Order: sequence, then C-alpha cells, then structure tokens
Amino acid sequence: MESFEYTANPARVIFGSDTIKKLPDELRRLGKTRPLLLSTPQQISGAEALRDIIGHGVVGIFAEATMHTPLEVTEKAIAYAKPRNADCVVSIGGGSTIGLGKAISVRTGLYHIAISTTYAGSEVTPVLGETTGGIKVTRSDPGILPGTVIYDVDLTMTLPAGLTATSGVNAIAHAVEALYARNGNPVINLIAKQGIRALALSLPVLATDLGSRQARASALYGAWLCGTCLGAVGMSLHHKLCHALGGSFNLPHAETHAVILPHALAYNAPKVPLAMAMLAEAIPESDGEPIKGLNSLLAKLNVPRALKDLGMKESDIDKAADIASESAYWNPRELDRDLIREVIRRAWEGEQAR
Ligand code: NAD
Repeated sequence: MESFEYTANPARVIFGSDTIKKLPDELRRLGKTRPLLLSTPQQISGAEALRDIIGHGVVGIFAEATMHTPLEVTEKAIAYAKPRNADCVVSIGGGSTIGLGKAISVRTGLYHIAISTTYAGSEVTPVLGETTGGIKVTRSDPGILPGTVIYDVDLTMTLPAGLTATSGVNAIAHAVEALYARNGNPVINLIAKQGIRALALSLPVLATDLGSRQARASALYGAWLCGTCLGAVGMSLHHKLCHALGGSFNLPHAETHAVILPHALAYNAPKVPLAMAMLAEAIPESDGEPIKGLNSLLAKLNVPRALKDLGMKESDIDKAADIASESAYWNPRELDRDLIREVIRRAWEGEQAR
C-alpha cells in the first residue's frame, strides 16, 4: 500500500426516518434556545413544520435562500438575525439553503444545524461558493462546515423526479472524482465506492417509483457518503468544468453535473486505471467498463444528456473550453485545450461518452 495522509472532517450526523423530531433534543444538547430557521421560498412549509416541532424559542423564519448564495441575501439574513438575538441557524433544504446557513455561520460564529433535503452534499463540506456582483467565488474553511447534520428520509419523499435523478448523479460525481483525487486515500476510496453503489442501485428504483422508502433511504445514505468525499479530497476536471459552465453560462447546477460526468470521466480514464477498476465494481452493468455502466445508469434515469438542452449556445463552446483549460487546477490528465473543447462539444451535442 502506498503512503497517504487522511484528514477527516468532524461530523455529527443524525440519520433516519422522522429524525427532524430529534431537533429539540439536539438544540438542548447544544444549549441553544433561539434558533433562526432558513429555507427557500418554495420550502417555507418545511421551516414552519420545524417551528412547530421546536415549540418555542424560534426567533424567526428567513425564507429567502436562493441559488449561488448571493452576498446581499446573506447580509439581509444577518440583519434579520442580529436584533432577534439568534443563537444558532437551522437550514432546511438543498445546497442553496445550506449555503446560506454556511455564509451566516462563518460570518457570525452562529452554530449551524443543516437538515439536507437533496443529494448535493453541501452539508458535509467546509466549502462555500458565494456570488457578489454576479461573480461566484468559492472558498474552503473549517468554520464553514455545519456542526450537526440531520438526514430525514421522509423529507426527501417530496424531491421531484428530475431533481432526484440529477442531484443523485451530482452526488455520484463527487465520489467518482474522489477516486482519482491527488490527495485520495484508501479510506475515502471505501466511502466513495459505497456511496456510488448505494446511489447507482437506488436511483433507477426511484426513477420508476419515487415513493420507495427503502430506495429513498439508500439514496440519502449514498448522498451523505459522496458528500463526505467532496468535503475530504480535491476535485478535478468534472467539477471545474461544471463550475465554469454554471458560473459563466448560468446553467442549472445538478443537470449540468449529470450531462458532464461521463464525458469528464472518459477524458481522464486513460490516466486513472485504478479508479476505473474501482468504478467498474461500484457501478452495475459496467462489465469492466464503468463508462458503459454510467451510460446505462443515466439512460434509466431520464436525465438531460445535452448541454444544448440546458440552454447553452453552440457559440459558447470555445469560451467554455478556454475557461476550463486556463484555470490552474490539478487534474490526473494534462489539460489539453483542443481535447477539452471536444469534451464540451460532445456534451453540448448530447453524444454518448466513450
Ligand atoms: P437547491 O438547494 O438549489 O434546491 C433546488 C430547489 O429544490 C429549491 O427550490 C428547493 O427549495 C427545492 N427542494 C430542495 N429539496 C426539496 C425536497 N426534498 N422536496 C421538494 N423541493 C425541494 O439544489 P441543490 O442541487 O441541492 O443545491 C445546488 C446549490 O448548492 C448550488 O448553488 C451548488 O453550487 C451548491 N452546492 C454546494 C456544495 C458545497 O460543498 N459548497 C455542494 C453541492 C452543491
């Protein structure tokens, strides 16, 4: 076995069904009595349900979380929290709401309990992407990591079909890139393989039966494991490409991940034989070729397969190739601008990755 270094992020995770009922106990354990609840406008009923469960002490609901964590929303939320003497924040939602919780927590020191309702994985990472004046800047800081994560399978039952599939593939992408990360290690490999397997088996079930409780539990468990990978090791071409496409052309987050993943993996495949072998074990129907397994999984999930269907213009392919090959980041395979352009072109057209 080769030498490695492994740093685990501290995590207190409460997982199961109806686990939001444990929130009052968790607040008592932490000595917190004045929580501020956060949600998107669409999920305000979830925040209201939390308020009823907590009973008394809730200082308010701030239901203005939105994509890309704009600084002005964070400042508005802090201005709302301060005069009410909030002593912690509880975010209930996907990566957008949890991002707001992180942005408040890192600025104010308020303890953050994240209740995750998608598979994006932000709740277990010390990473935050924020937008100021339309420009998104991402940073990592131990102070960004939420203190407690509650996974309640019941809350994911309402996740619509499209977001279930794309958010699930978004999670798989974290674990795929963890398998060839520069700072990868055997512990993260175990977590990544298990996370991919849990999602690759449960997402096709959910594609035909959104209400399968067993598949929902397995998908959420897989999402936690994959999020743990994202929080622990560095990501490469796939994540950078999605970041560039999302940031520069305003493409939707989870859908973009679903389109790009097989193409980014195909680009890196020649340089990462060990990761490909681990993926072949983790992804069903791979027959030794994980890209084949991934294509078959994506076909079952009915996720978008072409960037042009997400609203990207053909004339933007060159700009995307420039951004993705200029930025300084580590990737297992050298970044060749023309080959990256071809990756983006294939993804734009919706061609099958191979
Ligand atoms: P999201 O949080 O933007 O949610 C999308 C929509 O789905 C929202 O309207 C939300 O209210 C709704 N929704 C969420 N859960 C639901 C449920 N169970 N039932 C019904 N509706 C529900 O989507 P996302 O994909 O979770 O997060 C994307 C954002 O998170 C991006 O901005 C991305 O950059 C960020 N992100 C950050 C990290 C990180 O580590 N910092 C990791 C992953 C994603």
